Amino acid sequence: MTLALSTRDDCLAADAADPLAPFRAKFLLPEGVIYLDGNSLGPRPVGALERAQAVVADEWGTGLIRSWNTAGWFELPGRLGDKLAGLLGGRAGECVVTDTTSLNLFKALASALRIQQADHPGKRVIVTERDNFPTDIYIAEGLADFLNSVAAETGTRYEVRLIDEEVPLDRALGGDVAVVALSHVNYRTGAMWDMAQVTAQAHAHGALVIWDLAHAAGAVPVDLNDAGADYAVGCTYKYLNGGPGSPAFIWVDARHQDRFWQPLSGWWSHERPFAMADSYTPADSIDRFLCGTQPITSLAMVETGLDIMLAADAGAVRAKSLALTDLFIDLVERRCGAHPLELVTPRNHARRGSHVSFRHPEGYAVMAALIARGVIGDYREPHVLRFGITPLYLGYADVWDAVETLRSILDSRAWDAPEFQVRNAVT
Ligand SMILES: *Cc1c(COP(=O)(O)O)cnc(C)c1O
Repeated sequence: MTLALSTRDDCLAADAADPLAPFRAKFLLPEGVIYLDGNSLGPRPVGALERAQAVVADEWGTGLIRSWNTAGWFELPGRLGDKLAGLLGGRAGECVVTDTTSLNLFKALASALRIQQADHPGKRVIVTERDNFPTDIYIAEGLADFLNSVAAETGTRYEVRLIDEEVPLDRALGGDVAVVALSHVNYRTGAMWDMAQVTAQAHAHGALVIWDLAHAAGAVPVDLNDAGADYAVGCTYKYLNGGPGSPAFIWVDARHQDRFWQPLSGWWSHERPFAMADSYTPADSIDRFLCGTQPITSLAMVETGLDIMLAADAGAVRAKSLALTDLFIDLVERRCGAHPLELVTPRNHARRGSHVSFRHPEGYAVMAALIARGVIGDYREPHVLRFGITPLYLGYADVWDAVETLRSILDSRAWDAPEFQVRNAVT
């Protein structure tokens, strides 16, 4: 993008010409807030309240248990999964919305390890990133520990190998690698892997690939089938605006679905759940990645946000995301250049997700001061100020105003007040 936006009026003009501007009315944002944390918890779609009312008052209140059939509750994970697969470049029948990202990662890892155990028993390493979101590392370690503890006498050992600056991906890959589990967009830095290239690289070593799309789904273009991906998991409460703690998703390429069943083989993943059989037969579909009864009230909320995202032109969303993140970076560097802010997000468009992070030695206090003035981003250890840039409800003037607030806080040292030093439980 050519940065012709050097004044607030330029930003207002860009907003007036923005083809995505009408989407802002589909979200409810409080007065006086510039919301730069939609990468952590998306705001409420206006339609969510009506949907919640229908689910609670009519489907639950009046329909009662009949609603499992009459309101489509039982099919909801697959129906939402089909819609989401469309957004992620997958096919119908490859995705379900269910459980949490952590649980879905466990299921995907276990399933991939079983395929490898059958085809290449020597492959026992899970490669992931030291810089990954912690749950991704913990779940991989937990599964490896579990397998090692129950199979100790066989002498086989599973291992988690963390890649970092010293051990990059190409050095970590080898004949012993079963699975590569990466986040498409890094939660802290906003750096993005080239999904097709990394998938091909892992496949060349005989490894299967799991993509965590927590900061990618609804944020950047994703084409799972085109990239040749094996598995994907991710959240709906971030860029998909499904509501706090709304269920996550798991996507499994059709070629892997019938190989094995995942170990959380609850009754919802059974071929015929209501046969109440005394032994397990997995569903012959993506349903085998379900576990048990789903949180329907929360699951139903996912559709409202998802439908808004599906109505937006994906190319326009990406173009605006890059224009806004470029503008944000440019303004911070020009207007706050006297302060010790260090960009940690890649400048290269091909390597950038949809959030921007800057390191500042007093990052926590600076973010607390920003939030007190209605500019809501978040803070991630160590010292990282994180700003989610969401093109459906943010405009160019919002970016301008957010940076001006940041500049004022830094110039006046407003962050250096006792109330901004106290840590909340959730940052
Ligand atoms: C947000 C996020 C999660 C969250 O997992 P939950 O099970 O929903 O708590 C997992 N992985 C990544 C990469 C994330 O960014």
